Amino acid sequence: MSQSLNRGDPLAFGSYWKQMSDECTVVIKGWELMSYYSDSSNMCWFMLPELRDEIERLHHLVGNAVTKDKYIVVGNGSSQLFQAALFAVSPSDVSDHPINVVVTAPYYSEYKNAINVLHSRMFRWAGDATLYDENKPYIEVVTSPNNPDGTLRVPMVNSLAEGKLIHDLAYYWPQYTPINYEAGHDIMLFTFSKCTGHAGSRIGWAIVKDIAVAKKMATFVQSSTMGVSKESQTRAAKIIAVICDGYQNFKSNESELFFEYSKRLMRERWEKFRGAIEQSMVFNVTKYPRAHCNFTNEISETYPSFAWLKCEEGIENSHHCLRKLNICGREGERFGVDSKYVRISMLGIDDEFNEMVKRLSNAKKE
Ligand code: PMP
Repeated sequence: MSQSLNRGDPLAFGSYWKQMSDECTVVIKGWELMSYYSDSSNMCWFMLPELRDEIERLHHLVGNAVTKDKYIVVGNGSSQLFQAALFAVSPSDVSDHPINVVVTAPYYSEYKNAINVLHSRMFRWAGDATLYDENKPYIEVVTSPNNPDGTLRVPMVNSLAEGKLIHDLAYYWPQYTPINYEAGHDIMLFTFSKCTGHAGSRIGWAIVKDIAVAKKMATFVQSSTMGVSKESQTRAAKIIAVICDGYQNFKSNESELFFEYSKRLMRERWEKFRGAIEQSMVFNVTKYPRAHCNFTNEISETYPSFAWLKCEEGIENSHHCLRKLNICGREGERFGVDSKYVRISMLGIDDEFNEMVKRLSNAKKE
């Protein structure tokens, strides 16, 4: 059977949450959570205060982002907040010249779709940030660690024009990368999907420096979906609380702490995966630098949620090459580069991952 590893469905941590099933159970009675409103004193009136508190607690625990003196906006996944952020930082006088949005290639394939589907008069997709040579205001999206290639990114546009930045830090969690600084950028997007693996809850959050920008983002979420499911927010708050309690109350033994578990799983997967790639002699995969992680207080490697493969000299199309092994990745072209590259998910369920590694190790140069 052909394997579909072209999506980024983060199911790998499911076995951890199965072990923690009782602690994470949330019961919601028929009469509860009925109102649209969660906190009328907050500019983000649809955000449950307990979720905001747990998000702050989690960032404080991990040390990956500053929340003090910042505003938090919750969204239906960080996908919605990406559009909300574009809406908030685009010039409000709608003109015939929407502002350009750029991202360094290879870039997360959904940015382009999320922009193009709106046919907005406020902003437009303008492709690779490193090629941007217009002397016009722009918005640059910085994804770090990057999807698809796991590299750490900084802004790349070289223009005298005014630029606004949106930092997508979906993968800036200890299981994927060493936490080597506390991010304090103007707009930072995070998602429950990649932090814990609960993509189905559709919870994302933005940490925003400027209240006017945060208010506009909240207005966008209000206008498009009139808030965010309170059932989902309750569940996210509970699960984040369970993670933080584990660390803060030393309730769990080491192997049961979430980031220890998830990082070990990623390390084991990457070791197996690299072994298979070396045997295959068909693909290359990036080697990541080791760095000190302030959270674990040790030198560690990067274990991205995707493998970004490049085929060896003489092979033109990595995607076709994988198809022959019955593995379906996502083609390099979708990420703004050529067909020598392909992305495969490292976050599938165990059986799927193990089968993929087995098939990959059988790859031979023809
Ligand atoms: N940003 C990046 C870089 C992603 O990889 C993803 C999910 N694949 C998202 C944002 C969207 O996440 P969410 O599920 O919160 O919409």
